Amino acid sequence: IKKIGVLTSGGDSPGMNAAIRAVVRAGLSSGIEVFGIHDGYLGLHQDRIEKLERYSVSDVINRGGTFLGSARFPAFKEESVRREAIENLKRHAIDALVVVGGDGSYMGAKKLTEMGYPCIGLPGTIDNDIAGTDYTIGFDTALNVIIDAIDRLRDTSSSHKRISVVEVMGRHCGDLAMSAAVAGGAEFVVVPEQPFDKESLLSQIEAGVARGKRHALVVICEHVTDVNALAKEIESRTELETRATILGHIQRGGSPTARDRILASRMGAYAVELLLAGHGGRCVGLQHNELVHHDIIDCIENMKRPFNQELFDLSAKLF
Ligand code: ADP
Repeated sequence: IKKIGVLTSGGDSPGMNAAIRAVVRAGLSSGIEVFGIHDGYLGLHQDRIEKLERYSVSDVINRGGTFLGSARFPAFKEESVRREAIENLKRHAIDALVVVGGDGSYMGAKKLTEMGYPCIGLPGTIDNDIAGTDYTIGFDTALNVIIDAIDRLRDTSSSHKRISVVEVMGRHCGDLAMSAAVAGGAEFVVVPEQPFDKESLLSQIEAGVARGKRHALVVICEHVTDVNALAKEIESRTELETRATILGHIQRGGSPTARDRILASRMGAYAVELLLAGHGGRCVGLQHNELVHHDIIDCIENMKRPFNQELFDLSAKLF
């Protein structure tokens, strides 16, 4: 292997830059040329590929987002489009591709691998919804942004004796919500993996208020229910002013935490190591604080993310 490509795809996440930097620097240290592909699979198809040097990734480790850009490019689901993308890579004599992204991006990488072009997937998403890894790149930063927002809401809400309902991201994964609930001291957490028990939410809040709490906090994952309607229901039941806050894209931005930078750096360097050792078609993970790799096809088709029951139970126990 002499030349590798790297791209970021799908929703951006803080730490993607640190991952690109690690791929570039680890590659160069091993005598490999590294090419950056702009705007994910879109730029790959449009042949927007440039050679990256050491200094190309200077001053990016602390920056959120991705300097290579990211894109959604649904046409990549078509085999003919992927065939053209592979031809672009071959024209540059690029032997393998590192893809940093979420499960949609993994799907693209899996399909390229099935067509005989070796890809390595790195889990870049704030949602922590990728199988084969305990943590994804960006999760820790997003969680800290959420905690910062929750702490602020707590200050103002407890001054006014108010209830806050906070909607966080995560798509179909409750990890951000559960972690935020435990770290933010929430009364109740609602996650997509568990049935939403509205009655128990209402009675839990009532019990807290009856015990003299000046502030109650409900953390809820996106796509479960309409949080504004839920806030109204809580308000009419408790007779306490209730506000819903949808944190939205705030959660995806900002300088990555040290934890995300280290995770991204480890994973990026590991991707290069795997390619040097002749492994293709793998996805990288961190399990029990050890770097691991799994077959990317198996990861997408068969592996499931375990639900963190212990964290879910803990948030209920500590309210
Ligand atoms: P994420 O990677 O954050 O989950 P998306 O689901 O939007 O984001 O996927 C990012 C990109 O990956 C898509 O725009 C598309 O280019 C590519 N992709 C997604 N699903 C597939 C698929 N089934 N086959 C090929 N490429 C795909």
